Amino acid sequence: MPVATNLVELRRELALANRIVAHEGVIDAFGHVSVRHPDNPNRYFLSRSRAPELVEPEDFIEYDLDSVPVRTPSHSQYSERVIHGEIYKARPDVNSVCHHHCAAFMPLLATGSDYIPVFHLGAVGGIAPPYWDQQDEFGDTNMLVIKPEEGASLARALADKWLVLMKRHGVTVAGTSIKDCVFRCVYSARNAAYQVQAMTIGQHVASLSPGETRLAGDIGGTTTGVTRSWEYWTMRVAKAGNAVEAAKPAKVKPAKAKPAAKKIGKPSGKPKAKVAAKKKTAGRRR
Ligand SMILES: [Zn+2]
Repeated sequence: MPVATNLVELRRELALANRIVAHEGVIDAFGHVSVRHPDNPNRYFLSRSRAPELVEPEDFIEYDLDSVPVRTPSHSQYSERVIHGEIYKARPDVNSVCHHHCAAFMPLLATGSDYIPVFHLGAVGGIAPPYWDQQDEFGDTNMLVIKPEEGASLARALADKWLVLMKRHGVTVAGTSIKDCVFRCVYSARNAAYQVQAMTIGQHVASLSPGETRLAGDIGGTTTGVTRSWEYWTMRVAKAGNAVEAAKPAKVKPAKAKPAAKKIGKPSGKPKAKVAAKKKTAGRRR
């Protein structure tokens, strides 16, 4: 899969990822997607604190893996940023992280029910990904993962998997790239919705077998599935009028403009119109 080749394009892709995951109903006012710095594995980018659907390429703050900003930010920050830093610290193979509170997962998270893949694309979450309950290690909290030790505990629970379910809170998803992470987010959320619906009507909800889950889970990274989905979701965001502008080319020093006096001095054959135009220009400059 092609990787964004420069930071300008990376920021644009990450802004789009935030908007896609929001547009597909995984995150709303809360939740966030981050990416590891492609040239420095000890850094990552995460937006300033704002609803993901509004995130612009200029909103990203660069953090070290202790989730301390590299430069003093001029805006407020997400309080749960340690989720990202601690996972990047624990998992060198992870290059993108999303934390969300998707409605489709909430019935599972409220009951502690296992996530099971009920269709092929649901394999992106594996079978029964690990659960983490902040209460177990930290007692009563405000339920937000704010302290580094809380983020580290969550990263330990994730272990070598791609999803960790946070009881009575949300889900954290890891990916090898921004697109891989978004793919896992959207299709695990679809699967959770189907699973919960199936649980309401069925005596037994059939899961993919471990072999099917492994084989189906490999499809995203070995075929055009991720690219095709990304193109589709990008189109949907654009149709909704929320496209992220293409990366701006590097600034080039403009050629020296010709003196305005020369233009004005050219004979036009219409002296009255020329005088009127000059008056208009003078008015605009005020
Ligand atoms: Zn949260």
